[in-house]
Amino acid sequence: MANYKKILLATDLSEFSGLVGGKALTIATTFNAELSLLHVVDFLPMLDSSYSEILPMEIGINEQMLEIVKGRLEELAKGLHIPKERQLLELGTPKSEIVRVAKENGFEMIIVGTHGRRGLGILLGSTAASVIHHASCDVLTIRLRDE
Ligand code: AMP
Repeated sequence: MANYKKILLATDLSEFSGLVGGKALTIATTFNAELSLLHVVDFLPMLDSSYSEILPMEIGINEQMLEIVKGRLEELAKGLHIPKERQLLELGTPKSEIVRVAKENGFEMIIVGTHGRRGLGILLGSTAASVIHHASCDVLTIRLRDE
């Protein structure tokens, strides 16, 4: 029987995060596993010299946004009883960062939400589909809603 000890919940901090989080917590409890929470921030601008004049302002806005994101991550983590050291915040492209963090930290399962939309084009574009294709561990998808 599979015995997952380290589970990574990737959250986009959307309105569905609580629902997905609740299910992830149930799964982690069932396996007596450690549940970690990951959010990837992908809004930071390219550090290009052509932006040099607007950069200080951009950095200010991004710092504020980062604080808001941190707060939302902490709030979600609190509701799921996930301690600080298992709340992960990364910068980059969500689909590749989720796979990288899982691999580098020895996670045995990744949990992601999926809208369950049908159609190849939509499916291939989704974060969940990419994680399923590239992860080196098991991936569990939680259906958010039927469209
Ligand atoms: P999407 O393909 O954007 O509908 O996202 C599907 C799932 O991928 C979400 O329910 C999350 O589990 C995960 N995900 C999407 N964006 C992020 C993000 N920025 N950080 C962490 N996980 C994410």
